[in-house]
Amino acid sequence: MQATILDGKATAAAIRERIGQDVTRWMQSGGAVPCLTAILVGDDPASQVYVRNKHRACQQVGIDGRVERLPAETGQAELLELVRRLNADPEVHGILVQLPLPQADDPAARIDPREVLDAIDPAKDVDAFSPVNVGLISQDRPRFLPCTPQGIVRLLAHYGLRTAGRRVVVIGRSDIVGKPIAMMLASKDGVCGPDYANATVTLAHSRSSDLPSITREADILIAAVGRPELIRGDWIRPGAVVIDVGINRVGDRLVGDVAFDEAVAVASAVTPVPGGIGPLTIAMLLQNTLDAAKRSAGGQTV
Ligand code: NDP
Repeated sequence: MQATILDGKATAAAIRERIGQDVTRWMQSGGAVPCLTAILVGDDPASQVYVRNKHRACQQVGIDGRVERLPAETGQAELLELVRRLNADPEVHGILVQLPLPQADDPAARIDPREVLDAIDPAKDVDAFSPVNVGLISQDRPRFLPCTPQGIVRLLAHYGLRTAGRRVVVIGRSDIVGKPIAMMLASKDGVCGPDYANATVTLAHSRSSDLPSITREADILIAAVGRPELIRGDWIRPGAVVIDVGINRVGDRLVGDVAFDEAVAVASAVTPVPGGIGPLTIAMLLQNTLDAAKRSAGGQTV
């Protein structure tokens, strides 16, 4: 068997084009220019690339992408003050804090990322990290959906890979990928309708025993681990769909959490790395920013 390669780049380009058209219609009807402000603290090279890519993607669809750059020595109080100022700014519809935040050697001077993220107005929390937004997702009435999990569901829907009634195994239980995608796929309604929800979900992690026997049960296997090529071909059920979220730098190459060549020989469909879930993550950020602008015009808080 030779798996279908799920082309995240092309899927994201099509979604971005639709978002661009929607932004134009929104502004022609008198809506404010949607605005996303990214906060970048310090000079971590990977973070700079991520923020630059997000900024460029905003520009391409007509969203006002702004970047607040702060030096690495910035303290917690100063960062919180900036978040509060952006919360109060009616021109700003979405706020994101680029992680990881730099950590000072002196423990007393360290920034607590959780406190900073919690300070973002939930109505502008386009990453959907705030406890309020996570709670709304868990009750199946989301305001924002986190970008990477939303991108996964959009990609599955784009290829007509239904999840309802199927067995999904998610490896990784982070707040930004593993937990929310497990919650979303187990939900009743789903961002792309009930066909792309209603799965029977297993959430595995580093303390799961005999991981290969768990992954072999999966009709749809989602890896969000951060360990290069951890998932081998013989961990995959023949004909399964494999979504590889991992992005790992090995020398000068980027590789996923799945041994791609082995997966292609066993699975029915596989995402590549790069060019899989990554581009969809950015597209979903644009979608959330546009939604935030529309909601703010309607005076909605939920
Ligand atoms: P985290 O480090 O926050 O979480 C990793 C999870 O994997 C944890 O739950 C951990 O278990 C689990 N884990 C670690 N090692 C093993 C193992 N050997 N066996 C089973 N489970 C294991 O990572 P993130 O969720 O933030 O990111 C995961 C990957 O996805 C990274 O490579 C990241 O770069 C990538 N990523 C890609 C995005 C994209 O747009 N494509 C967006 C976000 C992330 P435990 O909880 O027990 O520690």
